[in-house]
Amino acid sequence: MPEFTYEFTASEVVPEFLVGEVQSKLAYVDEDINKATVSPTGDRITLHLRLSPDKQRLAELEEKTQRVVLSMVKGAYKPKVQVLEDHLDRPIPYNLDPHIELAARGEISQETQGVFALGPLVSRLINYFERRFLELADSFEAAPYRFPTLIPARYLERVKYFQAFPHSLTFATHLREDLDAIDHFAQNAACQHDGALTVPLDTFSPIQTLLSPAVCYHLYFALADQSLPQGKVVATAVGNCFRYESINLSSLERLWNFTMREVIFIGEKEFVLENREIARQRMSGVFEEIGLAYRVESANDPFFIGEFRKQAAFQSAFQLKFEIRARLPFKDSTLAVGSYNYHQDFFGRHLNMTLPDGSPAHTGCVAFGLERMAYAFLAQYGFDPRDWPAAFKEVGL
Ligand code: AMP
Ligand code: ZN
Repeated sequence: MPEFTYEFTASEVVPEFLVGEVQSKLAYVDEDINKATVSPTGDRITLHLRLSPDKQRLAELEEKTQRVVLSMVKGAYKPKVQVLEDHLDRPIPYNLDPHIELAARGEISQETQGVFALGPLVSRLINYFERRFLELADSFEAAPYRFPTLIPARYLERVKYFQAFPHSLTFATHLREDLDAIDHFAQNAACQHDGALTVPLDTFSPIQTLLSPAVCYHLYFALADQSLPQGKVVATAVGNCFRYESINLSSLERLWNFTMREVIFIGEKEFVLENREIARQRMSGVFEEIGLAYRVESANDPFFIGEFRKQAAFQSAFQLKFEIRARLPFKDSTLAVGSYNYHQDFFGRHLNMTLPDGSPAHTGCVAFGLERMAYAFLAQYGFDPRDWPAAFKEVGL
């Protein structure tokens, strides 16, 4: 497809630490943007556009882009990155992009953008990592839960998800209970060239449910408007999660539909913080056995533009989020394969989940992205099991 590029000067220089975040948000500026890049110097922006637009349209695209830059950059200050562990220099034998080999072996098959079917090798690796994460859960005697893939809009509304992450939501609906509408659909539904269904929007019922973006929320909702009799809960669950990442979707690195294993702690502040720390230490031993090259550092969630600056600064100031960032040697960068999170009493307050003394419960979770774990491992160790650490003998390849 022919592409048109448009370059202009940013209204505010994007500092280096924000380049990635701003670039990823530019994906949501306009449907005609295929790709957006901020120069390493932070002062030039290039939009790769689907069509060759007229002057007025270009001005409009520039204005929308500048709005994002201004909102995210103005007044932002560099968060102090706190490094809790650094094992990035662990020796690893591989340095190629695993995506190419995975595709060549038929181990990944893309169903649509950001949605992949996974073959036996990746599935066995994920099963292995799952066993290790379950060992962690067992070490806390975490109670097992199973949660649905759908989540009611009302739940997400209660915890302000629509304000924080509107861009990544995925909505679920169904045909209205209307014989004519259902008959019409059955006879006429067809996919357009781009895969979109040709159906009038009023055929669908109003949206009451979404595809769930996280696992632990389901537990908080199950315990909402209650006092926790024991004053604490430790639970674990694995689930399908959905985050629409627009043009940022790529390989197993950034999926629309991925799976997460979480260990969840609810109780007093000290209980949650202590257990988050114990979990980190226990995982440090597991990652050593697995031979993973990674570091654990403070981070923030990818809040949408308007909320970004305030919320990211808040998370950073209170050390609410630490990410396990695995090395991707083929591109000389890192990828978050998991996170250690503390939400303070946010869910306790918004969901009226209380401790026996009536105060809001504190919550925290340890979350692992299963596809990313497999992907990062293959990026570091490659496809010959003889090169893999001894811990992988049991994978049986
Ligand atoms: P978070 O709750 O954002 O810290 O996510 C927990 C983990 O889920 C991350 O560390 C990733 O490993 C994984 N994850 C989050 N978003 C995606 C995505 N779009 N694609 C694949 N894995 C993801
Ligand atoms: Zn969580």
